[in-house]
Amino acid sequence: MNQHVWVVGGGIGGLGCALAIAREGVPLTVVEQAAAFGEVGAGLQLGPNAVRVLNDWGLGEGLRACAAFPEALRVRDARSARTLGQMPLGRSMLARYGQPYATVHRADLHRLLLDAVQTRTATRLMLNTRLAGVDASAAAVRLTTESGQVFAGDALVGCDGLWSRVRSALLVPEPARPTGHLAYRGMVAQRDLPIGLRSPVVTAWLGPRLHVVHYPVRGGAWFNVVAVVHGRLGQGHAAPSQSWSHDARLEDLMRALGPVAAPLHDMLAVVPEWKLWALHDRPPVQGPHEHARGRLALLGDAAHPMRPYLAQGAAMALEDAWTIGRLVQDRPSRDSVDWPALLARYARTRWMRNARVQARSQRNGTVFHAQGLLRVGRNLGLKVAGPRLMDSPWLYSGPPHPVP
Ligand SMILES: Cc1cc2nc3c(=O)[nH]c(=O)nc-3n(C[C@H](O)[C@H](O)[C@H](O)COP(=O)(O)OP(=O)(O)OC[C@H]3O[C@@H](n4cnc5c(N)ncnc54)[C@H](O)[C@@H]3O)c2cc1C
Repeated sequence: MNQHVWVVGGGIGGLGCALAIAREGVPLTVVEQAAAFGEVGAGLQLGPNAVRVLNDWGLGEGLRACAAFPEALRVRDARSARTLGQMPLGRSMLARYGQPYATVHRADLHRLLLDAVQTRTATRLMLNTRLAGVDASAAAVRLTTESGQVFAGDALVGCDGLWSRVRSALLVPEPARPTGHLAYRGMVAQRDLPIGLRSPVVTAWLGPRLHVVHYPVRGGAWFNVVAVVHGRLGQGHAAPSQSWSHDARLEDLMRALGPVAAPLHDMLAVVPEWKLWALHDRPPVQGPHEHARGRLALLGDAAHPMRPYLAQGAAMALEDAWTIGRLVQDRPSRDSVDWPALLARYARTRWMRNARVQARSQRNGTVFHAQGLLRVGRNLGLKVAGPRLMDSPWLYSGPPHPVP
């Protein structure tokens, strides 16, 4: 095909987008600012909706080789260790949705996507290339890199994350908002965990103004741990807030958490290294204009960054990518794509679902960190209707097919 697409950003969203488009035989280039492709050392939960996308792309076997498939999602009180509710995952998820619930190391998922992209001909990967600006006319897009190179193409998808430059070209520039929440993240080898803590489940510990989630990855050989507390990066936190590489100390985390139950304390204490990240998000997407205009589109965190409390940010990026791929597959002409029409349909398909997930993620944060009466109501709800409250058929049965 005599057309060319530019994908800006080589994270999970960018590589997913590249794969979805390349599978349909459209030539493309991925532009990534980093010197090498990679992902931070942390985990991701992948609901059946995300696994459905990966299976559709033929990556099911690769996923099975590197992921874990937890048996249940268990919610516990961070202070008393009492189990508040539980939802079966494992076979039960498979029976309900035809797809499993997976947990994976981010680097493993990224590698799976990268390997698949690299097998596609007519796909170019440019590292060390930072997008500086984009403009688009009715006939073409033009991008400029920070080193002064200029390229043209037929469409451009901004998968450049929370601090997206493509977003600034499409919408009135407004910085992402700090949520006032800090995420401490770490990994621990299963063999280093006390035996009683080696559990094949996703565990969420809820406490006032805090929660901790841990789950197995790499077939259970490792555990991913993330602890979220209220606070801001301040003195003693030297790294810029856009960086993942901020080293954090267990003492600071423990101080921020306050008293926690012994099993949770023991789990946190064996994590050898912590990284700290100040969480940012944006208000839910307001309409299709926030997803695409003409030949430019946004995907993943560039379009809809969210709090990680529904564990769906990467999943929505994969669903966005799948939708673009499906629309390219359904194109009326084999020789060309009407990109403005296709991207408008992409935006109409995706915006409401992404907005709903953003809103639900924010609400979950309030519920997870509840105090007082809300906490009492939450615990009662989990006791009487836990599995129903924790399940999300509207979400897990996705991604929805493109709207006309
Ligand atoms: C604590 C935490 C836990 C989470 N847990 C989950 C979970 O369990 N499940 C889930 O689905 N999601 C989860 N998420 C969300 C998920 O991590 C993100 O939504 C997802 O990684 C976004 O992917 P992306 O490709 O859109 O953006 P990014 O991963 O940010 O990738 C953007 C890429 O663009 C590149 N880039 C940026 N600017 C430029 C430029 N100017 N030029 C060239 N390249 C550029 C960057 O280097 C990067 O490679 C979590 C997030 C956090 C913070």
